Amino acid sequence: MSLFKSKNQPNAPVGYAQQNSPAELALANIHDGVVILDYTGRVRYINPAATRMLGINANDVIGLDSSLFLRVESLDGHPLSGNENLLVQAILAGRAIDNYRLCLVSGTAQKRIPVSISVVPVNGQNGSRIVTFRDITKELAEEGEQTEFVSTASHEMRTPVASIEGYLSLALNPQTATIDQRARGYLNAAHASAKHLGQLFHDLLDVTKLDDGHLRPKLQPVEMTGLVKQISDQYYPQINGASLKYQFGSAGPDIGTARRLDQVVYGYVDVNFMREIIDNLIGNAVKYTPAGGSIYVNVRGDGNNVLINVTDTGIGISNEDLPHIFQKFYRSDNSDTRTIGGTGLGLYIVKKRVEAMGGRIWAESAFGEGSTFYVSLPRISSEEYEKLMISNNSIQGGAR
Ligand code: ADP
Repeated sequence: MSLFKSKNQPNAPVGYAQQNSPAELALANIHDGVVILDYTGRVRYINPAATRMLGINANDVIGLDSSLFLRVESLDGHPLSGNENLLVQAILAGRAIDNYRLCLVSGTAQKRIPVSISVVPVNGQNGSRIVTFRDITKELAEEGEQTEFVSTASHEMRTPVASIEGYLSLALNPQTATIDQRARGYLNAAHASAKHLGQLFHDLLDVTKLDDGHLRPKLQPVEMTGLVKQISDQYYPQINGASLKYQFGSAGPDIGTARRLDQVVYGYVDVNFMREIIDNLIGNAVKYTPAGGSIYVNVRGDGNNVLINVTDTGIGISNEDLPHIFQKFYRSDNSDTRTIGGTGLGLYIVKKRVEAMGGRIWAESAFGEGSTFYVSLPRISSEEYEKLMISNNSIQGGAR
């Protein structure tokens, strides 16, 4: 099949379309780059926008392997290894990708253009691949401004909200104020809302920092069971206060006390990130488990990963909600959750933090019976742990 050849001009070369053909008019004038490749990655057609963005001539690249000039980097300018380069993988395997953000490296000027790339395979494995890229320079700048605005606004609003919360606490304290029962009811409601607002600003600030990559993990070698136990044991008073049972070292109610699973496993993680993650997961387990229920936390080795679970016997999550709970602002809407406060940002933040440390998070749940949140993080061997401890200590020692 030849591209854009008409019956009138059957000998027009591939890649050079007929004037006035609607397809050519569209492709010649759109701002998005379009490259059509064969299944081996060789160029069959390239439109003018693509040649401009890539800084090349159409004549020079028709028939050429696209990997010779279609070079990409991550948005923050890092070269991509084979596994990370989804574009090359999609082209070679004939797999679709949709709006994947990358930096296009323009051949001549070594200019970098941030683009959103899509690959559409046509006619299966041995068919063509249509690669399109859209310049997102303006979009990124606008997103940056938006992030900056949300971040500044959240930061500025936290201070007055903390002050309102503080004064409401004083008004509610019998040692500092005298109020009647009706006023106490109103002030309690105002206090709860002020706390909610404070949490919302705190979470929004975290989201903006994580979204624009400002919150980078400071990784260090850590014995994971000890760390997670130390963090989660601190929640014992809160768990106990909510009339819940707590057990560390157990994967869930079926295992019981007889088979404790905790073991010594090492990871390379950010301790503060871990604190936020465990804080959020246990906080949710407490929030969404009615009195009399149980919370189980455990850490174990799982091949090359460290697997942490936070399990509860609470209200559970429906099958419809389960795929969405890690999205920004998503909250399950049912009679149980409606009365429980929350921002819908916690799990999104947790997911971002886990992913920033190279890990994965997911949940399993039976509606009405309870939920388990799993966090899987890269594991290191005890030898690697020792080595990293020595090099970390010598860096810290040298910095003194
Ligand atoms: P929220 O501030 O609403 O708790 P999260 O992002 O932490 O926000 O959680 C998103 C939603 O996931 C919650 O609104 C709730 O519906 C559901 N969820 C999270 N953890 C649990 C849990 N342990 N048990 C039941 N539902 C949960």
